[in-house]
Amino acid sequence: MPPPRLARSARRAGPALESQSDVAATGSLPRTDRRRRIDLSGLVDLVLPRACAGCAGPSQSLCPECVDNLIGACFDGGPVPALPYPPPLRLQSVWAAAAYEGTLTTVLRAYKDDGRRDLLPWLSALLEQSLTALILVRGVPAGSIVVPLPSSVRANRFRGDRPVEALVADAAGRVGLSTVRGLRMRRRVRDAVGLRSAERMSNIADAMAGDARLLKGQQVVLADDIMTTGASMAEAQRAVRSAGGVVVGRVVVASAARTVMAESLPFPRQLG
Ligand SMILES: [Zn+2]
Repeated sequence: MPPPRLARSARRAGPALESQSDVAATGSLPRTDRRRRIDLSGLVDLVLPRACAGCAGPSQSLCPECVDNLIGACFDGGPVPALPYPPPLRLQSVWAAAAYEGTLTTVLRAYKDDGRRDLLPWLSALLEQSLTALILVRGVPAGSIVVPLPSSVRANRFRGDRPVEALVADAAGRVGLSTVRGLRMRRRVRDAVGLRSAERMSNIADAMAGDARLLKGQQVVLADDIMTTGASMAEAQRAVRSAGGVVVGRVVVASAARTVMAESLPFPRQLG
């Protein structure tokens, strides 16, 4: 089995994170100022998580075994153009780096809902791979912008920040694209967990609004963390088009198990 293309990037994310810690620990202090260095190291030790987000074992961020599990969730040969089955009307393929399962599920939840923002580099490395595949295989017009799918008002309140937007912005920056917060939720939606595909579609229908001042005439890559039924992605696509934008690509970190490779679907005219 050939190693997933994102293995190398994903592996790079860890050392980069650790080296940032090293910088924080040592800073640019003179080497002779040992006492202050020790004080700062203690501070870093207090601030940084000391449990692996995947298995709760003793590790900063992710332990080597969970990193391997994360890489194991990646699709063989790199990101794939995926679609849920049945695909929502007019939704075209969504590039996904990994299957939403196992350790990746735990890591994404920990990142979004348990305050483990230290996991951003790992997840961003995966989303970067999805973006890179879209750009290399399908092509993206120069000047395209990346627009994150909005989280619900309730999720934003609960989290206090916007971790999905931060993830999208970081990954977009890695491939030289800028991120624009051009979509927002304009009404409350139910928590989609446990809803069937058709229920999700009606739950999210017309729930998003695009900012025409930011989106009109723009070529837009839509980005999110997970795709399950594709209902949110389809709604985001509708909202961007209503605001005068053109959707030129769609990417996620991971797609749920029920999604299939777009090429295997009998609807070639829907593929994009
Ligand atoms: Zn672990």
